[in-house]
Order: sequence, then C-alpha cells, then structure tokens
Amino acid sequence: MDHEALLAWYAGRQRPLPWRLEVSAWRTLVSELMCQQTRIETVLPYFARFMEAFPTPLALAEAPTERVLELWSGLGYYSRARNLQRAAQAVVAAGGFPRTVEGLRGLPGVGPYTAGAIASIVFGVDAPLVDGNVERVLARWFAEPEPSRAWLWTRAAELVAPGRAGEWNQALMELGSLVCVPRSPRCGECPVRGDCGGAGNPEAYPRRKVKKAVPRREAVCAWVQRGDRVLLVRRPETGRLAGLWELPGLEGEGNGLDSLGNHLHSALGLRVRSARLCGTVNHTFSHLQLDTAVYVVEADGEPAVVEGGELRWVDVAGLEGVALSTLAKKTLELGGQG
Ligand code: SF4
Repeated sequence: MDHEALLAWYAGRQRPLPWRLEVSAWRTLVSELMCQQTRIETVLPYFARFMEAFPTPLALAEAPTERVLELWSGLGYYSRARNLQRAAQAVVAAGGFPRTVEGLRGLPGVGPYTAGAIASIVFGVDAPLVDGNVERVLARWFAEPEPSRAWLWTRAAELVAPGRAGEWNQALMELGSLVCVPRSPRCGECPVRGDCGGAGNPEAYPRRKVKKAVPRREAVCAWVQRGDRVLLVRRPETGRLAGLWELPGLEGEGNGLDSLGNHLHSALGLRVRSARLCGTVNHTFSHLQLDTAVYVVEADGEPAVVEGGELRWVDVAGLEGVALSTLAKKTLELGGQG
C-alpha cells in the first residue's frame, strides 16, 4: 500500500500540540495518559500546568501524591494520575525509560497503546498502536463491521510505515480525529479514500454496540461553613475518586436529610441545627449516574480536624488549590451559592 498520501496529509494538517512540538518519552507518556478518554482541548491546560510542576520523571516521583491529585483535579479517571506517579518512580529507579514495547509495558498504567505510542514516536521502533480513532479508521478502511482486538492489532502492525512508525501512527490517529470522525466523516477530503472499502457507507463500520443503561444512585452531602471556611473530607485511598476531597455525605438509596444528619453526627461529631436543600447535582461517571442532593447545614460541634488527616477546613476562596473531583466541584459550587 502507498503510505505517502496519508503521511503527506499529516505533514500538512497535524495540529501543533505541545507534546509534538517538543518530543520526549516523559512528555509523550504524560500526554498519552491524559488523553485517554479525555478530549485534547480539555487536556491542554492540564498538560501545561503538569509539565511546569513536574518537568521530569524525578520531579513527579518525589512529589506528594496530594499535589499530583491537585494538578489532575477535574480531569477524571484519577487512577491515571496515581499510575503516572508510579511509572515515574519506576523510570527513576531504572535510570531511564525502557526503549522497547515490552519494557514500556512493564511500567504501571502503560498498556499496549501507550507503549506503542512511546516506542514508535520517541524511540523510532516500528511498533503499531490502536486507540479508538485508529479502530474506527481501520474498520472503515477494511470495511470490517466487527473488528476484534486481535484483528485490529494485526492490521495496524501490517500497515506501519517502516522507519516512520511514529509519524504513521500519529497520522492514523489524526485522521480519525479530524476527518474519519464518528458521525458524518469527511470522505471527500480524505487522503486514503481511493483505498478505502468503507468510503461508500462509512458509518456502517464499525457496527455500533448497543449501550447498556448506566445505573443511577442517590447521594446526599452537606455544606458546613465556619467563618470563611468550608468542611471537606477525603475519600478513601482505594476505589472511585480515591484520595480526593469532597463535601461530607453518603451514598445509597433512600438517603435524605435524616441519614445525612446521622452521618454527620456519627462520623464527624456534628449535631445539625438546621438544614436547607440547595438543589441536586447530576453527574455521570463511566458506569454510574449519581444524583447528589446538596444541603447547607448549620451544625454544632467540633469535628476532629488534624493536620494530614481525613478532614479539613478550607478557605472558600482557596478551593482552586484543592484536589477535587468534577463532582465535588459541582456540589461545592451549588453549596456555596446556597
Ligand atoms: S474515506 Fe471516509 S471512511 Fe475511509 S478512512 Fe477516509 S474518512 Fe474514513
């Protein structure tokens, strides 16, 4: 097959993304992990702040995890941040990045896609990669309605342009982002349309999977303010949104003001004097929809706040610097208006 059309198109159309303008294994690793399940436009400011704080694996390896989560705050899928820090620690311990796909896959959080990206883009290895964009492009190109993982990786490996795998892989991904988009792909301006088996009916490939309904849960939380400060609790170190801060509350069906009051009393030693419902925040995670009722609560009692513990009073004007999930930000915004 002729690689030149796609490579030439990429040379002229690629977006000047910061990790393309200055290429290194570190910058590629950070950008690839940030871009998983997240739009590039969303990633850009996070990448800039992260690189400023952690310009090298050593800087991240030695940073407090709390600081890492603060800089990841709002980007979602927080296990990526923790894995990135573990990967940085492994790189520091090994004295540098592995230069093969197999070696890279040994780093925490690095799967076949990220390993292929770093190996091909940074180290010039003739390695393929498959992400969501490449999957769609290949399924259409070969008119394959139900591409399996094995089929995709085999096709991707066959197609890699020898000696130019990094460029080729990025060109395929860029084609999927800009031209061979999920809905109404622009086949008329596509550099591979002459070869493409799916060009006549592109949206038939790959066949759409029927989405499962996402379960819904209820939660309730409290905005408790003293002076200019609001009370936050830290989530457990494992599970969803591990280690991030949020308003105190609880999750589960049938929870209302009574159970919130009981929780504030038993877990934090607070006795509710009055409470007012501000509204409900609806937030969708990948496998869960959570409807969180937010109350502004006046309460007596002194929660046991200790330095480095699971509770803290945070200046309402200083919430920007706290490791918060998007959901926590939404509930804080609502509570703060209440
Ligand atoms: S011709 Fe159309 S379907 Fe085929 S790769 Fe290009 S944009 Fe996608």
